[in-house]
Amino acid sequence: MKDTFQHKGMRKKLVETLVRKGISNADVLAAIGRIPRHWFMDSGFIDHAYVDKAFPIAADQTISQPFTVARQTELLALLPGAKVLEIGTGSGYQSAVLLEMGMTLFTIERQNELFKKTNLFLPKIGYRPKKMIFGDGYKGLPNEAPFDGIIVTAGAPYVPKALLAQLHVGARLVIPVGDEVQIMTVFTRKSATEFEKETYGEFRFVPLLEDKN
Ligand code: SAH
Repeated sequence: MKDTFQHKGMRKKLVETLVRKGISNADVLAAIGRIPRHWFMDSGFIDHAYVDKAFPIAADQTISQPFTVARQTELLALLPGAKVLEIGTGSGYQSAVLLEMGMTLFTIERQNELFKKTNLFLPKIGYRPKKMIFGDGYKGLPNEAPFDGIIVTAGAPYVPKALLAQLHVGARLVIPVGDEVQIMTVFTRKSATEFEKETYGEFRFVPLLEDKN
């Protein structure tokens, strides 16, 4: 797998596009500037790796749009070393962004084909999540909770209570909520029983499905 000057040049332009679209977190931009997104794409789409769009990956899923990855990561508002749970490993690109930023990452994928592929691929290119799990993200990861942040990368028809319950006080759940269109929603845990809710506009994701497959 190569990462040429041409790829690096296209990546720099992508980062400039993200800045123009309103991404301001320097650590997020630096991570996206460093990660060869074309390595995460199926061969037919490699030419589009640095276009700010979502693209198909295996098992009818998608690699999220760079803007979406950047916005969700920014909304987690975490420092290096934080313990993060990601629901929907998919291609592993969002995982790589979190790992590049120094997070301790737990990530869950429900599609066995994708799980197996990404489980091999991420360590091969030097990204090592603390744990990659084949399972149902609706349940979170109670044995490893609480987390400093939880990010859901599929459209959730409702907010799973298990995920709210697995946040530290002060931690955030970043989750796109809705059926056809999703509203990016951030829940911040204020106390054992209180959560603050904020919304950040419309996005489109593949659906968060129940059970593993
Ligand atoms: N973060 C990924 C986005 C992949 S798309 C990336 O950067 O490429 C969303 C992913 O969520 C898909 O791979 C889909 O299979 C997965 N998914 C959907 N429902 C899930 C669930 N209940 N638990 C875990 N993963 C789920």
